[in-house]
Amino acid sequence: MQRRTKIIATIGPASDSERTLKELVAAGMNVARLGLAHGTLDEALERYRRIRKVSKDMGTRVGILVDLPGPKIRSAPFPEDGSNLSAGSSIRLVPGKNSSTETVVEVDYEKVLEDILPGDVLPFGDGQVVVCVETVDRNGASATVTNGGILHGRPGIRIPSERLSLPTPTDDDLQKLDAFVEAGVDMVAVSYVRSAHDVRRVGTEPHPRGPLVVAKIETRAAVENLSGIIEASAAIMVARGDLGTECDIAELPHLQKKIIAECIAAGLPVITATQMLESMIQNSSPTRAEASDVANAVFDGTSAVMLSGETAIGNHPVESVEVMARIAKQADQEFDYGRWAERVAELRSESENELNNGSSQAITDAMTLATWRAANELDLEALVCISGSGFTVRSMARFRPNVSILGMTMDERTAQQLTLSWGVTPFCIESAMGYEERIANAIATAKNEGILKSNDLIGVLAGITGDSPATDVLRIMRIA
Ligand code: PEP
Repeated sequence: MQRRTKIIATIGPASDSERTLKELVAAGMNVARLGLAHGTLDEALERYRRIRKVSKDMGTRVGILVDLPGPKIRSAPFPEDGSNLSAGSSIRLVPGKNSSTETVVEVDYEKVLEDILPGDVLPFGDGQVVVCVETVDRNGASATVTNGGILHGRPGIRIPSERLSLPTPTDDDLQKLDAFVEAGVDMVAVSYVRSAHDVRRVGTEPHPRGPLVVAKIETRAAVENLSGIIEASAAIMVARGDLGTECDIAELPHLQKKIIAECIAAGLPVITATQMLESMIQNSSPTRAEASDVANAVFDGTSAVMLSGETAIGNHPVESVEVMARIAKQADQEFDYGRWAERVAELRSESENELNNGSSQAITDAMTLATWRAANELDLEALVCISGSGFTVRSMARFRPNVSILGMTMDERTAQQLTLSWGVTPFCIESAMGYEERIANAIATAKNEGILKSNDLIGVLAGITGDSPATDVLRIMRIA
C-alpha cells in the first residue's frame, strides 16, 4: 500500500538547491512550505519558481504553501555570542529596536507597554526563555526570568494573543500574499488567527481560483473560536510551536486530538506541525519519542505531517523526509480503518452542521458515507472522485477508505490543492461538458498512468449536472 498521510517540508537554506529539492520530492515531499518570516520576498519567490521547475522536470505534483508571518513581535538583536538570561534574574522590557542585553530587552513593537500586564508570562523563541511581568510603567516593564537560557539574534516574544492589538493578517502579510497570488500559489497559511474574522481578512478569491486558506491554530483565542475558524477556512494547521507557548504544555496533546477531530467532522484537511523530528536538525536519525509522535498524529487522523527546521535549516533534510515517510507509511498500514468511518459518522452527527437540510453539502456528506460503505463491501480497486473545487474528494478522504482515492478534476489548481489531502492522488483531466465524458476522461487518465486497467472494479463518485456543486451519483463499474 502507498503512503496515504501527506508530508509537508519547509524549504530554507538547507534545502533550496535544485538538487536537494529533487531529493526531497523523491523522498516523499508532497507539499513544499515557504515560511515568509525569514529572508526577503524576492528570495521566497525565487524558491517558489525553483520548486515549480523541479516538480515539472520530475513530472511529480508538488503543492506549494506560503506561510504568512503574522504579527510576530521580535526583540532587538542580542550580542553575537548570545546573552544568558539566568533563572531568577530581573530584566527590563522597553520598546526599541537597537540592541538587547541580559538585563534590558528591547522589544520591536512600540505599543508593547500597552499590551502587557503584570502577571503575564512571556516566552521568547519557542519558549527557551520565559519571563514573568511584575510591573508595567510608562517607560518599561520589570520582569523576572522564570526559565533561564541563552538568547541569540532577534527571538520572537509572545504577547498573549487576546491582548495583542496588531491585526492578523498584517498589512505586510497581505502585500506578500499579493505577490504569491499573482504567481499562482496553491495554499496560504495564516498565522496568529484569533477568530473567523481574521481568516476572512485574507480576502483572496475562494479556492480553487484563489489559494486554499489554512488557518494556523496557535493561540488560545483560536482554540476557543475553533468552529467558526473551521467554517471560514479550507484547512487547518495545529501549529504546536506557538500553541505550546500559549497553552499549558500538558494540554497540547489533547488539543491536537480535539482540533483534528473537529476538522475531520467538517471534512477539512488538517496538518500536524512542529518539532515532529526536531532532533534531526542535528542528528541523522530521530528519537524514539519523535517516531511515536509522527505515528500517533496519523492515528489521531491528521491529513499531513509537517517538517519545519528539520528541512529548512537542518543537517539532514532529505533523511528527515525519508524517515518521516517510512514512519507515516507504516502507521497508515496499522491504522484502524474499520473503526474510523464509524467514528467520523459519530463526529458528524455530534457536530452542529445540519445534516438533513438537503443542501449540496448535506448530499455530498451522505454520498461519501455511502461510498465508503460500498468500497468496504466490494473490495474496489479505486475510488475515482470527479470534483471541480475538490470538495467531494476532501469529503471522501475524511472517511479514510482503505482503497486509493483518485482525485480527478478539470481544474489544475484544484489538483495542486489536493496534494494536501490524505490518501488522494490528484490528476487534472481533460475538460468535458457531460457526465459520461468526464468519467471516460478520468478512466482514460488513470489507465494512461498505469493505475487502473481493464476489468478493474471501481467506484466513481461525481455530480451528474455540470453546474451543481453536489456529488449526487455513485456508480460501481467494471472498466471496459
Ligand atoms: C508553529 O508555531 O508551530 C508554527 C508552525 O508556526 P511558525 O513555524 O511559523 O512559528
